[in-house]
Amino acid sequence: MANKILGFIDAKENKFKNPAFEIISETRKLAGLLNCDFDILAINKCPDEEFQKLGEYGANKVYHINSDELNSISGKSDLKYSHNVFAKAISNFAGDNYDIILLSGTSFGKEIAPAIAIKTNSAFNPDIIAIAVENGKIKVTKPVYAGKSFVDIIFNTNKIVLTLRPNVFKPVNSPQSGVEVVKVDIRTLDIEPADFKSYVREISVSSGKLDVAEADRIVSGGRGMRGPENFNLIENLADAIGAATGASRAVVDAGWREHGDQVGQTGKTVSPSLYIACGISGAIQHLAGMSSSKCIVAVNKDKDAPIFQIADYGIVGDVFEVLPALTDEFKKIL
Ligand code: FAD
Repeated sequence: MANKILGFIDAKENKFKNPAFEIISETRKLAGLLNCDFDILAINKCPDEEFQKLGEYGANKVYHINSDELNSISGKSDLKYSHNVFAKAISNFAGDNYDIILLSGTSFGKEIAPAIAIKTNSAFNPDIIAIAVENGKIKVTKPVYAGKSFVDIIFNTNKIVLTLRPNVFKPVNSPQSGVEVVKVDIRTLDIEPADFKSYVREISVSSGKLDVAEADRIVSGGRGMRGPENFNLIENLADAIGAATGASRAVVDAGWREHGDQVGQTGKTVSPSLYIACGISGAIQHLAGMSSSKCIVAVNKDKDAPIFQIADYGIVGDVFEVLPALTDEFKKIL
């Protein structure tokens, strides 16, 4: 039986978003199932007001490591963050006080979670889509073989680090009267300049664009769009329904769309409420990134395209006719 659970929450551009709310809700739920305590930890430079949002999802106390203070140990001025240092800070904070550590499977969570597992001598499993407790033991479910199958894993240890697939665990409203932000003294984390072995100097983000990994609706285009000049059809439909735009690897490799849009095994894993695949064949590597979407709509002129095997709704037709018609109809309704 676990003693205590730690939920690590990530912030983007100094704002807590859905992945953080999902982790708080799930940490709280798991603590309830195991009848143990939980804490929440954040490393960032979010202002105190931003932390108050977390109370909506059940956090009443959040430990905060100031990332500027942490980075200042490096003595470098051109540093955004170091994943070695974040992993060490979280592991040293956890020490022997926590058995289970939950992180969101964002790009950042995926980067640091394995290192935390090594440092805390814990079992590690990524990309979890369900957590249960059976006879006092943790049981998790995760997709395997690029989403074609699912496995249940039962741990024979209490020391566990998990990353949860974003957008699968829904944030649950559990309002608290206020959030106490407890500042962690960085001297207790044992970080030295030598720990900054590798670090990130620059993070480029496409301004104003909804990130495909965070979106609740996605319209994705593949090679069937024939060229980058036709992606305005994807963008128009996405605008009409408030969706982000995604892409298959074929079009990213061709330079038609940026890599940040790529969905799939070597791109982003998404689980939106609605995924519209346009001119995408449905290769297993693409399905690996989007098969857990709640509703999949496929538009393809080939009735035998594999994407139709996992689609909830299939439109056999030419994207150049179907997309403008869909966009017009959505504009009328919405
Ligand atoms: P295609 O397979 O060429 O399909 C185009 C589709 O468009 C066809 O089904 C066609 O019928 C349809 N079409 C054509 N014209 C029209 C029209 N006018 N109207 C309607 N439909 C039309 N792929 C990913 O997407 N993401 C990944 O992360 C990824 N990782 C990979 C990792 C590895 C190790 C490998 C080996 C491959 C990976 N791939 C990935 C590539 C994957 O195998 C496919 O090659 C790729 O997904 C195909 O992209 P596509 O569906 O756009 O193109």
